Amino acid sequence: MSSSVCLWNKGRIRAEAHRLGAVAFGCSVAGPVDSSYADRYDRWIASGAHGTMDYLARHAAIRRDPRLLLPGARTVISLAFPYRPSGGYHHPWIADYALGRDYHTVLHGRLRQLATFMADNFGAQSRPCVDSAPIAERYWAHRSGLGYIGINGQLIVPGVGSGVFLAELVTTLELAPDTRLAADCGRCGACVRACPGGAISPDGSFDGRRCLSYLGIEHRGEFPSGAPSLGTHIYGCDECQRVCPHNHCEPPEPLTDFYPDHRLLTLDAATIRHFSRGDWRRLSSGSAMRRISLSQMLRNYLQLT
Ligand code: SF4
Ligand code: SF4
Repeated sequence: MSSSVCLWNKGRIRAEAHRLGAVAFGCSVAGPVDSSYADRYDRWIASGAHGTMDYLARHAAIRRDPRLLLPGARTVISLAFPYRPSGGYHHPWIADYALGRDYHTVLHGRLRQLATFMADNFGAQSRPCVDSAPIAERYWAHRSGLGYIGINGQLIVPGVGSGVFLAELVTTLELAPDTRLAADCGRCGACVRACPGGAISPDGSFDGRRCLSYLGIEHRGEFPSGAPSLGTHIYGCDECQRVCPHNHCEPPEPLTDFYPDHRLLTLDAATIRHFSRGDWRRLSSGSAMRRISLSQMLRNYLQLT
């Protein structure tokens, strides 16, 4: 069912999203992405900079137009949920976003609650997306006014920073679109200088093959020759976010699900070396770290400095 909704009702949906833990909420008319974005993305794929992340090259038609995800879609709602920066150096480094419970599971639950609220109150059908559909999430978050995309490629929410998970609801409900922010990140260049892999260029272009996060998580098998060393990073890398001045503010309180797991904060390299499959299963259970296998973890361990 498709229907329109007045601004007051949009406010009710926004309030419900905040009640569910979102720190930013915005809407766009569902339709094709801008051709400049689509062309840039296609060039990036054609250059091979996505490495072995073949899924990024699939479903191009849906990525260009999220209406293909849900018949009758009228609006893309973008949401940002904060996670908690660990605030210090822990070794080996595990990306901050992975220290709490798996955001896919947690946020799917939150989005389903929001979709139920919209169905009950407005008769809307909605499709939740949490890294689970080929949708250009940063593009839509930017277009919906949640923030701007930094040179480091991250969506930066003003006053909050980039320590957020993005999620979307594609819905049949018609909601007034929000305005895209005109500002850019400030282009200080700190992320370019700090990137240990040299993956970020000053113009914001990104070579995934040189990103430690890609190598440690997405890349399967042996590392390609010439790839940068993981250094101290065993799962992900936050360097381009840690140096960003937008992240030097007091972060908002995240959902308790995203509080760092003490076992991960205190994990030491020697322990990893002797992991059994059972140890790894218990540690990674319910965590986004389940994305990698024990053999990838041990491969990463062997590169640690
Ligand atoms: S995650 Fe690390 S390696 Fe990847 S772009 Fe950011 S700083 Fe560079
Ligand atoms: S570190 Fe500087 S250039 Fe990089 S995203 Fe942040 S503000 Fe932009």
